[in-house]
Amino acid sequence: MHEAQIPSIVYGPVPSWRLARSLGVDAVSTKGKTCSFDCIYCQLGRTVHPLTERRRFVTPDALLQQLAAIGDVAIDTVTFSGVAEPTLAINLRELVAVVREAMSNHPVAVLTNASLIWREDVRADLRHFDIVVAKVDAPTEELFRRVNRPVGEVSLAQILAGIGEFREGFDGKLALQMMFTEANRDQAGQMAALARTLHPDHVQLNTPLRPCPVQPLSEGEMAGIEAEFLGLPTINVYTAQRPQVTPLDTKATRRRRPREGQPAADSLS
Ligand code: SF4
Repeated sequence: MHEAQIPSIVYGPVPSWRLARSLGVDAVSTKGKTCSFDCIYCQLGRTVHPLTERRRFVTPDALLQQLAAIGDVAIDTVTFSGVAEPTLAINLRELVAVVREAMSNHPVAVLTNASLIWREDVRADLRHFDIVVAKVDAPTEELFRRVNRPVGEVSLAQILAGIGEFREGFDGKLALQMMFTEANRDQAGQMAALARTLHPDHVQLNTPLRPCPVQPLSEGEMAGIEAEFLGLPTINVYTAQRPQVTPLDTKATRRRRPREGQPAADSLS
């Protein structure tokens, strides 16, 4: 394939408040957002390709070619994220193997909305990562449907059971990412109780700081929420350190992270 025909799969590195200097890999890389959720706070707008079936989107060869082209770049982590839910890629395991071959010194992470973690094949793929960051934004089915607006019939109970099962057999780092907005601000205590049942290595407390239809909570409100998680290792989007980085290709990076360079949260997946 001619280089110009290959969609941009690799982007960044981005200054991540949770993964330091993070080189992004978009395992789906469609033009508009392809997701199994349509979260009310998504920074990428509405989900234009709603999907719950796993498919093959990008090839290992195309990924290898793009990784080989970036040369020597200072990064801390390679992170599967992008304009899509990464576990929709049915060849995710092959793509992780390509990253390990090309970038052997760096941990490989994935930001997932966990919508497919009830599936054994998805859990098996996720075990190939060093760091799995799984989204949980609600303690009840009703709030889950209102905040994450899932595509299809997946329930919060299925997702939580899947995360619990995954935790038992996973030796890497499991983080829970919890996005707080007006909708779930008063459920922080329930969210903390839920987090304790899942035994994460840490909990990422987020609020949407980048432009989206929902207002972020204030630093004071997030500090109050963090207090509910006493005894659990947490990081807070307002107080976490962000490294300085220069993206390799600003256009490819801005497509996945609008307003890069502003104080920002990784609100994808
Ligand atoms: S925030 Fe993540 S999971 Fe939610 S709609 Fe956007 S890309 Fe999908």
